[in-house]
Amino acid sequence: MHFHTVIVGAGPSGLACARMLGDRGIQALVIERHETIGAKVCAGGITWGGLISRVPPDLAEKSFPVQHIITRLQKVRIEEPTPIIATVNRVKLGGYMARQAITAGAEIMTGWQVKGIKGQTLIIEEKESRKKQEISFDYLVGADGSHSLVRRHLGLANNKMGIGLNYQISGDLQKMEWHLNSRFFRNGYGWIFPHKDTISIGAYVPRSVMPAHQLKKGLIAWAGTLGFSLAREQARAEYINYDYQGWRFDRIFLIGDAAGLASGLTGEGIYPAIISGEEAARAIIDPAYSAVIMEGLLRKHRLHSHMADWTGTNPIFNIIAGEVVTLGLRCGLIKFNKLEMAV
Ligand SMILES: Cc1cc2nc3c(=O)[nH]c(=O)nc-3n(C[C@H](O)[C@H](O)[C@H](O)COP(=O)(O)OP(=O)(O)OC[C@H]3O[C@@H](n4cnc5c(N)ncnc54)[C@H](O)[C@@H]3O)c2cc1C
Repeated sequence: MHFHTVIVGAGPSGLACARMLGDRGIQALVIERHETIGAKVCAGGITWGGLISRVPPDLAEKSFPVQHIITRLQKVRIEEPTPIIATVNRVKLGGYMARQAITAGAEIMTGWQVKGIKGQTLIIEEKESRKKQEISFDYLVGADGSHSLVRRHLGLANNKMGIGLNYQISGDLQKMEWHLNSRFFRNGYGWIFPHKDTISIGAYVPRSVMPAHQLKKGLIAWAGTLGFSLAREQARAEYINYDYQGWRFDRIFLIGDAAGLASGLTGEGIYPAIISGEEAARAIIDPAYSAVIMEGLLRKHRLHSHMADWTGTNPIFNIIAGEVVTLGLRCGLIKFNKLEMAV
């Protein structure tokens, strides 16, 4: 089998890329190792500036024009006329994006894992039968997440990773909360993101600052102070790659977490995944494309990485920065969207 473009991974980055290629008349093949698209550990928060306005309203589980930010010294309530953040179910988002890609002409193979890359050929294996197959390509897109095989093939290391840890418990809450509490999370944060019938309670921190087991301990202790008993609940964790080292490598592209485009500061990665997927498609269609949108995303990414580095190395600076930013939000000097990845 031969395809003009093969995309490894049917996350938001791969599906956005496939849809845009299809819209411009290029049939891409997307290879996804899981049978279910979108079953990814995630808090499911999407921002107004980034995505809420681009997905159908019924895809949002809950929308929040009000955000609550709690630090060790302050409790701040921010309100805007439009929802600042909405929550989505990742399987529903994946299903919606897959339908869009297929309608545009893409082909999606689920239950097949890419095992290796030899020149212009991929070796793929059906997970259930272990049957192997070869597929050749003109262009290859690595949309295969934080442990990307395509990234490894290019010889790029993953030195800057965040840890995201999530508990999805049943319940019905109305308040979306961010807790910048250095006692539990150092320069990371804990979150409470209400969904339709469930609540995502979790935490994010750069891996260089705190190991996963310590984050889990802090998260359980912090949640306990708020009346949530997580010790017997099932935790799901994953690394979030923010070690950006390039996205265009001749005929190979990296997008989303595979390119290290998530925010090092907050772990937000759905928006950068979709934007970089669309930008890779534009660059495949027109190799002279100047990628202006990507440039803007990279500026935001650099800023978030620097902030994660600075606050991670100096605990005092971290506490001061957290309190000053929160005060700025409270006084309206800083808009919430300045902390988002949306350009
Ligand atoms: C706990 C947690 C909470 C988070 N919360 C948020 C949030 O609220 N908002 C937000 O914006 N971001 C959040 N993120 C980050 C976000 O989930 C990711 O940044 C986003 O999913 C990246 O999209 P992607 O398409 O690059 O990669 P992924 O969504 O990781 O998709 C990669 C796909 O590739 C497939 N794949 C991998 N290897 C292979 C292979 N060899 N062969 C075939 N298929 C393969 C995988 O199965 C997967 O489906 C969170 C992350 C974590 C861990």
